[in-house]
Amino acid sequence: MKQKEAAVRIEKLRELLESYNYHYHVLDAPKVSDDEYDALMRELLELEQAHPQLQTSDSPSVRVGGAPLEQFEKVAHDTPMLSLGNAFNEQELRDFDRRVQGGVEGEVSYNCELKIDGLAVSLTYEDGRFVRGATRGDGRVGEDITNNLKTVGSIPLRLNEPVDLEVRGEVFMPQGSFEKLNEEKEAAGEAPFANPRNAAAGSLRQLDPKIAAQRNLDIFCYAIGNDEAAGITSHHEALTYMKDLGLKTNPENKHCPTIEDVLTYVNAWVEKRSGVQYEIDGIVVKVDSIAQQKTLGFTAKSPRWAIAYKFPAEEVVTTLTHIELSV
Ligand code: NAD
Repeated sequence: MKQKEAAVRIEKLRELLESYNYHYHVLDAPKVSDDEYDALMRELLELEQAHPQLQTSDSPSVRVGGAPLEQFEKVAHDTPMLSLGNAFNEQELRDFDRRVQGGVEGEVSYNCELKIDGLAVSLTYEDGRFVRGATRGDGRVGEDITNNLKTVGSIPLRLNEPVDLEVRGEVFMPQGSFEKLNEEKEAAGEAPFANPRNAAAGSLRQLDPKIAAQRNLDIFCYAIGNDEAAGITSHHEALTYMKDLGLKTNPENKHCPTIEDVLTYVNAWVEKRSGVQYEIDGIVVKVDSIAQQKTLGFTAKSPRWAIAYKFPAEEVVTTLTHIELSV
């Protein structure tokens, strides 16, 4: 594509993605499916890569999430809460492995985790007590949702040890609770939630904690924000440590010594993705060694030591986007 044409297309894609981001991250009411969104983002990334002179620092391709809602107190994250790069097939996972192997010394092993489709939160514990909970927001500043998170039964208000810790996890709505909630909404003549992810996010971003308390939300914790401070040297150690402290981690997490083991895990879950009682939209693959993670570092939007493999689409894509996109 010529540069002039590419500039027009890039502008159109940015405009669309900005609008979809706002509906998804700020209003918790997506306008298009995730597959459509991902396809547009991929197109934007490819065009920006082919025309680097058209790259800008405010493009949705380098920005995380959405702005925090004004109604909430703001929380600045000590360590940014970033997004994840995507892989859509085996080759892209192998490419990720090659980049990782090329960037670090020594043997590399990975951890595979289910990618829970919910809302990322940060939980701060001081002296073992839960003192603050926040959304990811734009990655640097999130919303203070402490009172709503206190209503989530699986978030301990006190850990088993009096430690200072920042924990990251995904709050989600189990499938059964989501179906029941939408039945109730429809019976009351209200619009149903589009999916469990939006229901969870919409429930947590309410000013009245009584609403979150009724929603039967749950959490899986998947990282420690300040792992060096906690003396952790590997990701699988961090997961065990969180579990020992009384935090809920996902029982399907698996330490995979090689990329072949990663692919076996991924392929098994493509088959059995609907076998769990909550929505998952892929598999997150993370380099296990914290020292190697530090060496690999981050881009503006995501860590170089992790990637999200996204499951293939299950539904037929609508033609809405193609109509909106004709430029
Ligand atoms: P992402 O959802 O692809 O990946 C990052 C997130 O994964 C983390 O923030 C965390 O919340 C989550 N996660 C779940 N399990 C995890 C685990 N075990 N370890 C680590 N993280 C885990 O990226 P994103 O920036 O949150 O959102 C972008 C995605 O959201 C898009 O790819 C698209 O699928 C969707 N989206 C959809 C629309 C829409 O209109 N449909 C709009 C914007 C974004």
